[in-house]
Amino acid sequence: MPRRSTAIGLITVYCLLLICLFLSWMRLLHVIWTNPGLIPLGDPNIEKQDTSVRYFDKYSAYISDYEGRPQFCDKCHNYKPDRSHHCRELNRCVRRMDHYCPWAGGIISETTHKFFIQFVFYGALWTLFLLIPTSYYLAERMRIVGDKPSTWIACVALSAIFVVFTGTMFFMTTWNVSINYSTVETVQRGGINNITMLTTRSHRDRRSSRASTTRASTTREKPNVLREVVRDGREYVVFQTQPFDHPWDLGNKANLQSVMGERVIDWFIPLKMSPCVRHEDSMGEFAWSDAVLDMARDWEKDNPGRRIRLVSEWRERSGRSGR
Ligand SMILES: [Zn+2]
Repeated sequence: MPRRSTAIGLITVYCLLLICLFLSWMRLLHVIWTNPGLIPLGDPNIEKQDTSVRYFDKYSAYISDYEGRPQFCDKCHNYKPDRSHHCRELNRCVRRMDHYCPWAGGIISETTHKFFIQFVFYGALWTLFLLIPTSYYLAERMRIVGDKPSTWIACVALSAIFVVFTGTMFFMTTWNVSINYSTVETVQRGGINNITMLTTRSHRDRRSSRASTTRASTTREKPNVLREVVRDGREYVVFQTQPFDHPWDLGNKANLQSVMGERVIDWFIPLKMSPCVRHEDSMGEFAWSDAVLDMARDWEKDNPGRRIRLVSEWRERSGRSGR
C-alpha cells in the first residue's frame, strides 16, 4: 500500500536538512575565502626588536614572552595577537586557529569556527536522517520482499560512517568551545602563560618613581610576578599563570556565546559573525578569566599607590569600588 503522506514528510524533512547543510557550508566557504583571520606579514629585513608592537598598545593586557614583548612568529616576521597560531598548510599565522580542515575546505579559525560547528551539526543531522528511515525500510523490504538492493545497503553504510564522523566532530568541537579552548590549545592544555599588564600610578607616586623609570626588575616578589618593564614610557608587569590556569574561561554559557552568538537563534543560523571576532575591548584581545584578574588584584594589594589598568577597567564595568 502506498504511504503517500509518509513519503511527503520524509522528502520534506530531507530537503530542509539538506538546505541547512548546504547554506552552512556555503557560509563557511565564503568566510574561509574572504576573511580567514590571517595575521599580516612583517618585513623579513627588520629585526624582531625593531618590529612595531604598536598594535598591542591599545590593550591593558596581552600574552607575551618572559620580557614582556608580545609573542613573535619567526616565519611571518611579525608579533602575534593573543591565541594566534602559525598554520603549516597556509604558512601564515591565523587568529585563534583551531585546525586546518581539508574536508570543509580550509582553515577553521576565529572567524570560521561558528560556521564549521553549524556545518558539522547539520551534516550529522542530515546523515542521521538518511540512516534511520533507510535502515528501517531496508529491513522491511528484506523481510517482506526478500531482496537486498545494493544502493540501499550502500546508502546505509555511507550514512552510518558519516554520522559517526560528523557527530564526533560536532561534539568534540562544541565541547572545546564550551571550555573556551581551540584544538591547538587543548594540546597545550596545562601549560603556563606569560601575561603582560599595563600599570598606572597616582601623581605623587609618579614623582617618587621618576628616578627608576628605566628599571627592569627581575626579582620574583611573588611566584606569579616575573618582572617589571618600561617600554615607551609605559610601565608594565609581566605575570606568569600557574599550570592549568585558564586565561579566558568565562563559564560554559559565556564561552559558547562568545563563539556561537548571544541569542540562541544565532547558534543555528549561519549568518552573523562570532562576538569574539570584534576585538573592541581595551582590556584585551579576548575577555580575561577570573584567574587573570585575581593575579592582578593580588599585585595591587602588594603595591599600594599603583594600579593595574585591567583591574581599573574591570571595576568601572562592574561598578565596584574595591574588590
Ligand atoms: Zn606565523
